[in-house]
Amino acid sequence: MIRLSLGTAAQLGLLKMRMESLPTTAYLLHGEGCQMNCAFCLQARDAGRQPGRLGRITWPSFPQEEVAAGLQQAARKGLLQRICLQAVYEPGGSKAVAELLRRLKDVVQLPLSLSAPVHSIAEAALYFEAGAERLSIALDAAAGEIYALYKGGLLQKRLRLLSDCARLWPGRMSTHLICGLGETEAQVALLLERLVKEKITVALFAFTPLKGTPLEQRLPPEPASYRRLQALYYLLRHGHLSAKDLRFDKGRLISFGLDESKLRHLLGGGEAFQTCGCPGCNRPYFNERPGGFIYNYPRPLNQSEIAAALTLVQRSLFPWGEKSREFFYER
Ligand code: SF4
Repeated sequence: MIRLSLGTAAQLGLLKMRMESLPTTAYLLHGEGCQMNCAFCLQARDAGRQPGRLGRITWPSFPQEEVAAGLQQAARKGLLQRICLQAVYEPGGSKAVAELLRRLKDVVQLPLSLSAPVHSIAEAALYFEAGAERLSIALDAAAGEIYALYKGGLLQKRLRLLSDCARLWPGRMSTHLICGLGETEAQVALLLERLVKEKITVALFAFTPLKGTPLEQRLPPEPASYRRLQALYYLLRHGHLSAKDLRFDKGRLISFGLDESKLRHLLGGGEAFQTCGCPGCNRPYFNERPGGFIYNYPRPLNQSEIAAALTLVQRSLFPWGEKSREFFYER
């Protein structure tokens, strides 16, 4: 048996469900009962390792043969661009994860991403040799103190391993960053700039409070703050600015160093507000409740969605229009 996100199961034809957007990556979950204790995660020790729950998503399990057939059929129809295997931390479990990667590679010709709590270069090498096209080592927290508080351990150590892997496997590393855990936008910005320079792909997540976790009472990030960070990551990765262009006020981003019309032009396609991460990864409803605010659009935005997203970015940077821009620039 293997667990799939609910949306993936629908995309593979294993269950019937109406979804506005189906996943373009097949999300598989390996392992039960993570040995880590992240304060935001339902698989953590203190959350009682709720089986079949990760993030907002339910992960029902299906026989491996049915999953294999579903993957082949969805790939033939062009419904999938990638497979993502998410593995929880089970000490000594890396061989089983590598074996599953090999089997998936035999089953279907799609690029494979693995998101796993990798602890060494040797472990990363094992996964790449087993067939992973990309490997994600999740940082989750953008600031050392938040990492220590909610994940335990040292962000710098994890970042060093990620950077070392990025040097050994250039352009093949990804990471996950959760916005809204209490870090400042300035801390996210500095980290994003480093990751972009090292050609590490970032999947931005909005913190989502989950019942049963120690952070269940914490609020998700302000929509305007999340939009600013999405815009920032888009502009950084497309080379439109660098961290020295940015201005902050008490840690909050107040200027990209671009005027309003240039910013509108650069962000006007709406891509900045779509889900980012490995190519083809759209993670529908990973952060969103149906009908609620859409942090990461799993599909291209329509014109009114683009206008709304741009308005959020612009109002929060230039709340009083052009006059405020001049004010910020002259400070
Ligand atoms: S960015 Fe998407 S495909 Fe890549 S590891 Fe994360 S969830 Fe998987």
